[in-house]
Amino acid sequence: MFYFLERERLLPPLLVIDALASSSNARLGDVRSYLLGVLRAEEELTKQEQVLIEKYSAETKAIRQQIRAIETSNVIFRANLCNACNQHLELPSVHFLCQHSFHQQ
Ligand SMILES: [Zn+2]
Repeated sequence: MFYFLERERLLPPLLVIDALASSSNARLGDVRSYLLGVLRAEEELTKQEQVLIEKYSAETKAIRQQIRAIETSNVIFRANLCNACNQHLELPSVHFLCQHSFHQQ
């Protein structure tokens, strides 16, 4: 029963404990292993989210540096290939600050 509750996450852990408190055949060992499983799962989730936080922080930092570079320095357009069709650019062409260039048509 505990394994099923844990795997399917049918009830929040506090409600499970609350229900077991009024049950006469629930054993302390079962409750303990259920709670340990819940805590292990939460710990694993926290670790995964910590990794995501670090990844997003690094991406945000890189984007901020890119924005600062665009705001404070000259951007030189050197592209001679269109980013859409990969053919040589000819006038008129459109250049974006992200360094992508396209045929105007
Ligand atoms: Zn093109």
